[in-house]
Amino acid sequence: MKEKEYVNLKCGHCGNHASMEVVNTYFDLHESYDDFGGLSAGDYYRMLLCPACKKVSLIKFYWHEGIMTTLGDTEITVLYPNISEIPKGLPQDVHRTFESASRVKNIDANAYGVLIGRTLEFVCIERKATGDNLYTQLEFLSKNNEIPANITTIASQLRIFRNIGAHASSGELTKDEVPILEDLCLAILEYIYTVPYLVKKANEAMEKVKKL
Ligand SMILES: [Zn+2]
Repeated sequence: MKEKEYVNLKCGHCGNHASMEVVNTYFDLHESYDDFGGLSAGDYYRMLLCPACKKVSLIKFYWHEGIMTTLGDTEITVLYPNISEIPKGLPQDVHRTFESASRVKNIDANAYGVLIGRTLEFVCIERKATGDNLYTQLEFLSKNNEIPANITTIASQLRIFRNIGAHASSGELTKDEVPILEDLCLAILEYIYTVPYLVKKANEAMEKVKKL
C-alpha cells in the first residue's frame, strides 16, 4: 500500500495549524529529462484534508525533481479556500488591516466585521475626515466627493455590521454576511485607492510608450 503523505498548513476554514493528509494529487508535467533518468518538473496540485474541521484545501506548488528535495524548497499557493486578494494602491495601515481581516474571513465572521470597520477607520484617518465616529467621517468623505453618495449608504450599513461584530449584545454576524461586508468594503477601497492608482500606472506606461 502506498504510504500516506502529509503537508503542514494553516487551515483557511478553521485556522488550525496542522499536518494535513494529502487525499488527492495531480501533477501538471512541464518538462521531463529522460537523459537524466526520468527527472521531471511541473506543477503539483494537492487536495488536503484538515484533521480538525474535515474540510479540504487545494494547494499548488512548482516541483523540480532535480533541484528540490523538500516542500521548503518551493512556494506553496493556497487556491482554495480563497483568501481575498488585497486591492492595489492601498496605504500601509489600510493594507495591513484589510489583510488581517482577510486572514480571519473564513474563521470568525465577527472578528472579520471588526477588522473591516478598522480598515475603514484608517481610510478616514488617511483622508483626514472629520467627525466623532466612523459614520459621520464617512459622511464627511461623501460630502467632499471622495466617495460617491451611494457608497456612503453602503458604508453606513458596514458601520452597522461592524457594531454587530464588536458588541456581542447586538447579535452575531454569520458567514452569510461576510461576502456582503467584503464586497462593500472593496467597493470603497477600489474607488478611493485602486482606481486612481491604476490610472496613474496607465499614464506612466503611456508616457514610456510615447518616448519610444
Ligand atoms: Zn480546518
